[in-house]
Amino acid sequence: MKAPRKLHIKSYGCQMNVYDAQRMVDTMANEGFVETATVDDADLVILNTCHIREKASEKVYSELGRLRITKEEAARNGRRMNIAVAGCVAQAEGNEIIRRAPVVDVVVGPQSYHHLPQLLARASSHGRALETEFPLEDKFGFLPPPKPDAIRARGISSFVTVQEGCDKFCTFCVVPYTRGAEVSRPVANIVEDVLRLADNGVREITLIGQNVNAYHGEGPDGRVWSLGTLLRRIADIPGIARIRYSTSHPRDVDDTLVAAHRDLPALMPFVHLPVQSGSDRILSAMNRRHTVEDYRRVLDRLRAARQDIAFSSDFIVGFPGETEEDFRATLALVTQIGYAGAYSFKYSPRPGTPAADMRETVSAAEMDQRLVRLQELIDSQQSAFNQAAIGNTVDVLFERTGRNPGQIVGRTAYLQPAHVLASPDIIGQVLPVKIETLERYSLLGQLAPSSGARANTPAYRQAPASPMTTGA
Ligand code: SAM
Ligand code: SF4
Repeated sequence: MKAPRKLHIKSYGCQMNVYDAQRMVDTMANEGFVETATVDDADLVILNTCHIREKASEKVYSELGRLRITKEEAARNGRRMNIAVAGCVAQAEGNEIIRRAPVVDVVVGPQSYHHLPQLLARASSHGRALETEFPLEDKFGFLPPPKPDAIRARGISSFVTVQEGCDKFCTFCVVPYTRGAEVSRPVANIVEDVLRLADNGVREITLIGQNVNAYHGEGPDGRVWSLGTLLRRIADIPGIARIRYSTSHPRDVDDTLVAAHRDLPALMPFVHLPVQSGSDRILSAMNRRHTVEDYRRVLDRLRAARQDIAFSSDFIVGFPGETEEDFRATLALVTQIGYAGAYSFKYSPRPGTPAADMRETVSAAEMDQRLVRLQELIDSQQSAFNQAAIGNTVDVLFERTGRNPGQIVGRTAYLQPAHVLASPDIIGQVLPVKIETLERYSLLGQLAPSSGARANTPAYRQAPASPMTTGA
């Protein structure tokens, strides 16, 4: 029997890329490829790239430099290694990659990766292949479903893309250009995916999209369904204990979404709702199409629907024209809201976006300083949030064994990692845990004596776990 060929995939950036990477693995599994964790023994290496900030993009070229050496070494050993660049850098810089990196065999944009097998065949007959058009067909109709073994190996929590692309055109952002126009998948296809995942042990689903709450997919009744309506349908699927969604835009939080938070215990009370800035002047220059007051009102509506809800956000510091006063308005908003965590970034001009033509007014040193000030504030809120869990009994969905013997790791409703000493049998279950201490970003505790009826409403009011602040 022919030995399977090996595929190594390295993914950068957002959760959409994590999902896409899995779908590429599923596509190539049909062609006889198995995944390998190392580059050295791979017959095919895929870099699934991110173009959101300059630093993320440039990583691709340094990685390709390293891969050139590995590919040459494989060739000396009589083995052909193919290299493919996928994702948003592929979309934005397709021809440039071909020019700058002769080591690359295939360049494929995020809407075309269902064509990977054909592109690899074309590369082997014609040298190299590039596809960065937005194809007319919907790639989801052509992607093979994951095999049961692959689903089980990926664990009890899974992403499902429900929406792609964005029509918002924030002036700093490349997404509308790299991912294209907003498209929603039909409800029936999403439900089919979730049923398959649930049948194979998945307990937690995160519905993802660049602008997930702009979801407007065709429902089984022929009407257009909103995200709130879709969430209700997903909550009905047996086996699914927890549901999340990401990433949302403040303008698209409609009444159906607020009502879903009110009515669905499985919908986790932790929402990532990026605001970017606390200054109306900067929000307008960013073309965010909402004010700070609009944003506050959205949070109030969600809080009224679900009292234990906590929020995280994204912030950009040093956007062109941002004054010290604008920046202080951001600090004031963070102080007022009290986030469970947040990501923060230095503004990075992206070629082709309107903001790239604006005059940059914030020096690199000032940008660094603002980032540090913002991150200190967010870190202190996140610490307080995590500290507040100590002494409480909270529901934890157990995911995997930990590094220490006997340790089982799960997550709270707010995505805080929680560790207990217990039997691996509890993996896949939601159980109450009495939190005793906090070690860096992880909560340590003990399984609470079984309480019978367990409400899905943790007693504390704030949220997440990992160090979310980032300046990349
Ligand atoms: N769709 C989401 C939204 O509207 O907030 C976020 C999409 S983007 C993948 C994730 C985050 O990257 C953004 O929220 C923003 O904070 C950050 N980002 C996007 N473009 C950036 C840029 N040019 N410079 C710095 N940060 C950027
Ligand atoms: Fe980018 Fe999000 Fe704005 Fe769309 S809504 S342009 S994805 S930041």
